[in-house]
Amino acid sequence: MRSHLLNDTTAESYRRSVTDGVERVARKLAATRGPFTGVTPAELAPVIDAVDLDRPLGDASAALDELEDVYLRDAVYFHHPRYLGHLNCPVVIPAVLGEAVLSAVNSSLDTWDQSAGATLIERKLIDWTTARIGLGPLADGVFTSGGTQSNLQALLLAREEAGTTDLSRLRIFSSECSHFSVQKSATLLGLGHEAVISIPVDRNKRMQSVILAAELETCRAEGLIPMAIVATAGTTDFGSIDPLPEIAALAEEYGAWMHVDAAYGCGLLASLKRRHLLDGIERADSVTVDYHKSFFQPVSSSAILVRDRAALRHATYHADYLNPRRTVAEQIPNQVDKSLQTTRRFDALKLWMTLRVMGADGVGELFDEVCDLAAAGHDLLAADPRYDVVVQPQLSTLVYRYVPEAVTSPAEIDRANLYARKALFASGEAVVAGTKVDGRQYLKFTLLNPETTVSDIAAVLDLIAGHAEQYLGENLVHA
Ligand SMILES: *Cc1c(COP(=O)(O)O)cnc(C)c1O
Repeated sequence: MRSHLLNDTTAESYRRSVTDGVERVARKLAATRGPFTGVTPAELAPVIDAVDLDRPLGDASAALDELEDVYLRDAVYFHHPRYLGHLNCPVVIPAVLGEAVLSAVNSSLDTWDQSAGATLIERKLIDWTTARIGLGPLADGVFTSGGTQSNLQALLLAREEAGTTDLSRLRIFSSECSHFSVQKSATLLGLGHEAVISIPVDRNKRMQSVILAAELETCRAEGLIPMAIVATAGTTDFGSIDPLPEIAALAEEYGAWMHVDAAYGCGLLASLKRRHLLDGIERADSVTVDYHKSFFQPVSSSAILVRDRAALRHATYHADYLNPRRTVAEQIPNQVDKSLQTTRRFDALKLWMTLRVMGADGVGELFDEVCDLAAAGHDLLAADPRYDVVVQPQLSTLVYRYVPEAVTSPAEIDRANLYARKALFASGEAVVAGTKVDGRQYLKFTLLNPETTVSDIAAVLDLIAGHAEQYLGENLVHA
């Protein structure tokens, strides 16, 4: 069994094994004809059930053969131009290379004595990101597992900075289109469900700062504490960006922590054409970025950034077995002092390789391309009488619904759209997402693949219309 350990004596087997795996994935990527096969859980579950984990196959090649059936054949492939579903990007090769390196070396970024150079590389990328944001000389941060964790940590810092032990008095303000991790975090932080005040959005799905101002005033009048305002820079559904300068001014006026959730919109930090959309982000106390959304990085790759590194002390605990107090005086860089995690992947290496190979402009160019594509897709939808489209995109999502020519009830239109989404998924020809707008069923394209073309969008719209019409036709026959 020692032959399976990766070390000096097994280098050749490592090379062969990984090359074999890379070879198969490369062939798979080249041969993929659609983003999905349409397999159902009921069809796939028995295949996986049939695997006896207590009877190993003994060699990697056999395990890879099996993997074809249990995973690779039916995976959802984000690199395919007709994957238009959730906020998943195709990944860039330098990042995948970084992934292969980091898992083989397997550094753990909690302490210097488990990571050495990796810690410094992560720190340099944090500094690079805070400089792009413009957070100033005291800024710092740490990589996290994702936007959910970044938001949780930001709100933890905000709660501690609010300086009260009476958690029931704390309030968080975020738009009705903010990510559900804001509510989740509030609950985890012991603030309760009433702690999050949901601020209505305007017709472009951006937080209405006038209403925010009024809610802050009410909060103050009631003797409650405005703990944090969460501005979303790129809402998950619409890619809409809250008015950051207005929110920054209100945060200052009311002494609230300003958190910018740029999980989606962070790609703008590298954009050559659209960086101005983030103007005002430099006034934030903390920022969430998800490199695994708009920097074309493999999952996971995210960070929480803060204006004042002192705030990170709220995540600092010392343990004799890991990061004893003396290491602070000795100036040993232990990233665990800033993190909610302990053992932590060297995800930063993926971004490092990306920047070293492509540069930030290379990433920004790709993100600009998908934003341009969304603008073109919007024109297409707006001109198409079969569709109703919700907002002009600021980033790269399009929310729309099929509307039949014949008069039908709103509930029936909802069902037709939902049916079309499911039928499309089952066909495997394309993957789109769905959401609700004012209680009605809508469909969504999240465009993160520069390989997707306007004609792909047109073709998928034809497919959706076909499915929706089929549904409505059948239902008329049955009626
Ligand atoms: C995706 C997203 C998150 C959550 O990020 P994960 O990486 O999925 O945990 C938070 N906020 C916004 C606006 C998002 O789009």
